[in-house]
Amino acid sequence: MPLSLCHMKGMFFHRFRRRAGPQARGVKGRTEYPPLSEQLYSDRLQSTFPAGTELFYWSEHRIHTLVNEDLVRWELGKAQGSYSNEIVDFILVHGRKLFAIAAGFDSDRTWLLRAMEFFRKNNIKDSELSAEIGAELRCLERETLTRLDSSLWTFDLAMRICDYQWRALTPVLSTDKANYDFHAKAILPFNIVGTGGMTGAFSIVHKIQIHPDHLKDPCGRFDSDRPDFFAVKQIKPPDAVERERIITSWANEAETLQKMNGEHSNNILRFVTAFTRPDVGSDKSCYLIFEWADSGCLEQLFQENPNPLLTKELVKQAATQLQGLAQALKATHELAQIRHGDVKPDNILRFGATPENIIGTLKIGDWGLAKFHKEATVLRLQNGQQTDTRYGTVMYEPPEVELGEVKLLGRQYDVWSMGCVMLEIIIWLVYGYPSVQQFRVDVKGQYRESVPCYLVEQSRESGMLKGKLQPIVEKWLDYLADEPVCAEDTALGELIRLVRSRLLVVELPPDRGRTLRIEEWEVGESSSEFRMAVRPPTAIGGNLVRSNNLRHRATSTEMANKLDAIMDDEDRPNDYWLRRAELDDVWEFEADPSFAAHTLSSLPKLPKPQAPSRLCQQCRGLDFFGNLVSIKYTMGEMRQRMKKCDLCALLQNTALKNNISPSATETVVFQRDRSWLKMNGNTHPVLSICRGRDSSFRSESVINYGIPELLESGSPAYFLFIRQWLQFCDSSHPGCRASTATQCMPTRVLDVGAIGDAYVSLWEPPSGAKGRYVALSHPWGRGPHFVTDVRNYRQHKDKIPLKDLPATFRDAVLTTRALHVRYLWIDSICIIQGPGGDFDVEAKNMERVFSLAYFVLAASRAYNQFDGFLGPRPRRGHVTLLDRKSPFYICEFIDDFKGDVLDSHLNQRGWVLQEHALARRTVFFANSQTYFECGDGVRCETLTKMSNGLEAFLGDPNFPQIIMSATQGEKIIRLQNLWKRYCTLNFTHDYDRPVAIEGMFASLLAAFKARGSFGVFDEGRDEKTNQPGGLLRRMLLWYRPLGKRPMVSIRFPPGKGAPSWSWMAYIGEIEFLRPKFGNIDWEEVQAPWSGDHAELTGVKDTALRGKVSSITGLGQGLGEGEEGGLFYDISDETWRGVKVQGQVQCVVLGVEKGQEEPGSRIHYFIIVRPAGARAASLDDIELYERVGAGYLPGKYISSSGLEVAIC
Ligand SMILES: [Zn+2]
Ligand SMILES: [Zn+2]
Repeated sequence: MPLSLCHMKGMFFHRFRRRAGPQARGVKGRTEYPPLSEQLYSDRLQSTFPAGTELFYWSEHRIHTLVNEDLVRWELGKAQGSYSNEIVDFILVHGRKLFAIAAGFDSDRTWLLRAMEFFRKNNIKDSELSAEIGAELRCLERETLTRLDSSLWTFDLAMRICDYQWRALTPVLSTDKANYDFHAKAILPFNIVGTGGMTGAFSIVHKIQIHPDHLKDPCGRFDSDRPDFFAVKQIKPPDAVERERIITSWANEAETLQKMNGEHSNNILRFVTAFTRPDVGSDKSCYLIFEWADSGCLEQLFQENPNPLLTKELVKQAATQLQGLAQALKATHELAQIRHGDVKPDNILRFGATPENIIGTLKIGDWGLAKFHKEATVLRLQNGQQTDTRYGTVMYEPPEVELGEVKLLGRQYDVWSMGCVMLEIIIWLVYGYPSVQQFRVDVKGQYRESVPCYLVEQSRESGMLKGKLQPIVEKWLDYLADEPVCAEDTALGELIRLVRSRLLVVELPPDRGRTLRIEEWEVGESSSEFRMAVRPPTAIGGNLVRSNNLRHRATSTEMANKLDAIMDDEDRPNDYWLRRAELDDVWEFEADPSFAAHTLSSLPKLPKPQAPSRLCQQCRGLDFFGNLVSIKYTMGEMRQRMKKCDLCALLQNTALKNNISPSATETVVFQRDRSWLKMNGNTHPVLSICRGRDSSFRSESVINYGIPELLESGSPAYFLFIRQWLQFCDSSHPGCRASTATQCMPTRVLDVGAIGDAYVSLWEPPSGAKGRYVALSHPWGRGPHFVTDVRNYRQHKDKIPLKDLPATFRDAVLTTRALHVRYLWIDSICIIQGPGGDFDVEAKNMERVFSLAYFVLAASRAYNQFDGFLGPRPRRGHVTLLDRKSPFYICEFIDDFKGDVLDSHLNQRGWVLQEHALARRTVFFANSQTYFECGDGVRCETLTKMSNGLEAFLGDPNFPQIIMSATQGEKIIRLQNLWKRYCTLNFTHDYDRPVAIEGMFASLLAAFKARGSFGVFDEGRDEKTNQPGGLLRRMLLWYRPLGKRPMVSIRFPPGKGAPSWSWMAYIGEIEFLRPKFGNIDWEEVQAPWSGDHAELTGVKDTALRGKVSSITGLGQGLGEGEEGGLFYDISDETWRGVKVQGQVQCVVLGVEKGQEEPGSRIHYFIIVRPAGARAASLDDIELYERVGAGYLPGKYISSSGLEVAIC
C-alpha cells in the first residue's frame, strides 16, 4: 500500500506552498494557467540534508500532476512556431521531468520547445534520469549536451541546466531495496529536525522527516503505523583501515539489515534502507535509515523514571519487553547468523512510551557497524597491537573477550550482554535508578575506567586463565534474590535465576562447533583486514580452564524459550507478577472509570462546576493532557505569581506541605503520572487531577473521573454515595457477600427503626434467626461509657431515646437507617457489660459478629463515644481548569487510607485488628474523607481506587482465604507481619492481648488446618518427608528488635496467662528471625497440643518440650566472616543473670542445610534458662523459660542434651 500524504503530521514539506494544487484560472471563457515557473516556484520543497544545506526540489508526484496535457499545450502554445502532437506525447510519456526542468530553468518558451525536441531526437527520457550512480547515463551531463547540439547548448547553459536538473531527480526510496549509491549532487527528500539519540563516537544521527511521496513501502514494514520521523545515521569510521573495511562490506551489511526486518518482530528496529554518497574531501560516506526512537533509549527510561512505582503491570511490561528482545536476538542469530556485539542500555531503543506504559517497546538498535568496529578492535588487540582507548563501555562485554579465545566470540556474546542489561532492569524495577548507578560504580570498583562484570584470574600453578563473575555482581544477585518481591516463584525471582544460572555464565555451550564457525557470524568477511585477524580456532585458547560444571551459558534460543516460560503465568501463584511482603506501604492507585461514571450519574446533586480559576501566563500554557507533562517552578516564582494565579498558590502550598524549603531559588518539579501529579521524582502523588462526567476530553482514559469537593457529610447525597459502594459490591462481587444461609444474627442487636424515629431499642432475636445487620467498630476512649449493664438492660430493651446516645453511637444509628439496614450491633450496648454481664461468653462470639455483619461501620475519626463521625470535614483545596471548554480539576491529594484509617487512633486499638480482618466490608469514616473497603480493594470518596498487597489480607471479606493459595513462605510472612502489627497496638487492659485476637486466631487455625495456641501454629510433620514442619518453629523465632524497648511481662489475673515462649506474655514490639525458605532442617520440639490435651490450662498443658544446649566460646566474639546474634526479650539485667550462671542455654529449632561442616552452618534457637522458683516442678522434667532468640554458627553450640519443658 503506498503511503499517503495524510500520514504526515509535521507538514514540513509544504512550507512553500501557497496553493493547494494546480488550479486553473478561468479567464474569458478559456482555461488559463499561472506561469509554470511560478507554480514550480510555489510548489518547491526544501531539503535540509545534509546538515547546513538548503536545497529545493519538486516531489515526483507533484511533477506528474502538474505537467499534464493541458498545461503542456498551454506552455508550448506560447512558443514561436507551432508544436507537434508527437512532442506532446513524448513529454507526457517520457519527459514530464525533463519538461519541468527545462520550463523551470528558462521562461523562454521557444527555447523550451527546442529543448524538448532535442530530448526527443536524442532519445533522452525521464526513465534514464536518476540520482543514483550507474553505468549508463543517469543524469544530464554537460559534455553530452554540448556534444549533441552545441548550438542549443552553450557551455554555460549546459552547465547550469546540469546543476538545475537535481531538483526534479530527488529519489523515491523503497524499503525493498537495501542500498543506494547516490550522486554527490542528489537532493534527498529529507528535512533534518534534530540531532542526537543514537549519536555515538563513530556515528552521527539526525532525526529527519522523509517526504511521503518519496518513500515507498512495498515490504509493508510500516503498514500499521508509519513513523513521523526517521533516523539517518552517518557512519564515521575512526581511521582509514576501518573506513575501507566498512565501504567494502557495505552492501552486504545493508542486505543483512534488510533481511532481519523480514522477521516482523515487534522488537527489531525497523530499517528503511541504506545509502552512500560521495562526501567533500573523501570518497564515500555511508548512511543508514531507521525508524526514529521517539522515546530515546533504555538508559533514558531509567533517567526519566528514577523511582518507578513497582506494580504488577510494570513487571509484566518489563518481562514482555525482555521476552521480545530475546526473540529478536534469537531470530537474528538464526536468520541472519550474525550477532550484535554491543548490546547495552544506550543501544536498546525505546518507542511509544506513555504515562501508562513507561517502558514502551524496546528494540535493539545499532546492529552492524559498531559491532564490526568493536570486533576488529578486539582482534587487533589480540594480535598484540595496542589501541589507545577501549571503545565506549566494556561493562557489558563477555569474558571470552579477554580470555583470548577469538574463536569464542560467537553469538553467546550477546547473551552475556543481555544478562547484564536484564540485571540492570531488575535493579531499576526493585530499587530505582540511583541503585543502577550504584551497581555500575560497584562493578567499576577501584578502576578509573569502565570494567566488565567478570574478572580474569591466572592460576598460580598452571598459569591458566579463568574467568568468573565479579564477586560484587554475585552479591547484587544475592541481595536481590533475598527481596520478598523477588521470591523464587515470582516473575522477578525467575528473571534473577535466569540471569544468574543461564546468562552471566562464563562457560559456553558444549556444541561450540556450531556456534563458532566464523563464517556463520562474520558478515564482513570480504574485508581483507578482518579476515587476516581471525585465527583458526585451534591456535588460541589452550590456557582456558573449563570446569566440569554442566552449567553453561544459554544460547539465544534457550534464552528466548526461558523467557517464554517466564511469561506464561498459568498455574502460578496469584501474586506471581508481584509479591509484596515487606514492601507493604506501597499503595497502587487505579482508575475505576465504570464505577466512577455510574456513581457520578446516580447522584442527583453534584456541586456545579465552578468558574475557571485564575491562571498566570505560565500556568495557562501547561498541557495536562499531553505526554508526560512536567511543571518546573521555583518557590520564588510561585510566591510571586500566587496572588494572581490559583494554581501557583496550590502548587506552592503543596510544596510547603511536603517540606520543600521556602527559599526563593528552590526548584520544584511536578510530573504527571496518569491522573496524579508527583513531586521531585517521588513515587507518592501530591495532587490529583480529575474531571467531571459530562466533559469530553482528548485523552479519555488518562484523567480519572472524580469529585473535586466532597459531598456534605451526613447529607442525603452523601448517604446515597455510600449506598452506591454497597450496591456495586453487592451486584459485582459475589465473594464479598456472606452467604444468606449463614447470616445468623448476634445474641442482641439494636433495632434502629426508621429515619426520623426518636427511639431505638435493644432486641434479642430468637436463637438461629437470620437477618441483615451492621456492626460498629469504634474507640471506647475516656469514660464514663454508655453501656448496657444488668441495671439498664430491661430499659434498653424497651427503648433508648436517640438523644441519650453518645454522638458516635447516634451517628451510627443515623447511618444505619440511611443505608437502609434495620439492625446495628455495638459491643457496649449489645453485650451486657460489667459484673453479672456476659462479656466472657460474648467475646468468643466476636468473630462471628464481625464476619457475618452485612458491613461494618468504622468510626475512624472518633477518639471516643462522644466525638461522632458525621461532622464537617476540611475543605479540599482545588483549582478548576478548562480543556477545550470542559472543566477539570487539580485537587489536593487526600487519598491516604494508611494515614487516615490504618494509622488512625481507632486502629491503634488491639481489638480493632480482628474487627477489621473479620469484617467482609467496611465503611471507614475518616477525618478527611470516607473510604470503603471490600475484597476488591479500597475505594475513596474522591472516586480513586487503591490497593495494597498486604492490606488486602485484612481487607479480605473471607479472611484469611486470600492467602490460602499463596506459597507457604508468603503465608508465614503474612502471619508474622500480622503479629508484628498486633504487638504495636494498645489495650486498656494488657491482659486482653491474647483475647482480643482469639476470633481471628481461630479463623487462621481453621484455614490452615493447623493446631496451635498463643499465636503459634503447628501443621505437624511434613506429609511427604515426615520431617518436622517449619511453621511452628518459625512462629517461635520471634525476638525483640534491636533498639526497641525491653519487653514487659504482662500481669495476668488469676486463671489467665500465656507461656514464656509466646509473645502474648509480654508488652512490646517483635520481629521474626527469617531463616531462608527451603533451606532449613527443623529440629524436634514437642508442642503441648501434640498430646491429647483438650484444654490448655495449667503450666503442664502449655509447656513446649525440647532439648537444651549450651552456647560456648563466644567470649571473643564471632570469628571473621561469621554471622550471629543473640536477642533478649526482657532486659539487659536478665542477660547478666544468665551469664552469671556461666553459660547461655538454648533450644535449637533449625539448622541451615548445606555441604559444609555443621560447625559453620547457622543454627536458629530460642534462649532459655531454668525457671527456678517461678514454677512448680513438672513430674520428672525440669522447667525452663524463654528469655530470647538468636542464631549462630553450629560450632558455638554444644550438642543437645537434656529434654526440658519451656513454660
Ligand atoms: Zn501560575
Ligand atoms: Zn466487594
